[in-house]
Amino acid sequence: MRVILQLRRRGGGRRESGAFLLGRQQGRITRVTTFVCYDDLDSVAYQAGAIAFHADGYAAFWKYCREKGLAVLADVHTHPGDGVGQSSIDQRNPMMPIVGHTAIIVPKFARTSSWSLSGVGIYEYLGDFKWRTHAPGDKTRRVVLTLW
Ligand SMILES: [Zn+2]
Repeated sequence: MRVILQLRRRGGGRRESGAFLLGRQQGRITRVTTFVCYDDLDSVAYQAGAIAFHADGYAAFWKYCREKGLAVLADVHTHPGDGVGQSSIDQRNPMMPIVGHTAIIVPKFARTSSWSLSGVGIYEYLGDFKWRTHAPGDKTRRVVLTLW
């Protein structure tokens, strides 16, 4: 996925980086058609070391979605090491505090040699700062990898 290459480049191996995955609903299937990186919306999103996305960024983001007619399907961000568990900050600060929103965490600042879903963390927001963990290969197949 191109988004991984972008996250790798923008993180420079030193910083966490992230993006929203966007697309359109097509019946029961939602397909990610594009993404937008946090630092395109909020130029200081990565400066604190961890990701801090600000109100200005959200305002720009909603404008972008409205103009393109896109819906937010998920967000993705990187972690420094192999660990893709949610930090307490991740749990307390859903990028989209909407029940059913999907958050994806990619290890090693996205410097994974070949991008597959193994080693990636997938979390479903249940509301009230609670999350359900989805194993990459589990039956619900919340996220299906496609190359585009
Ligand atoms: Zn995190």
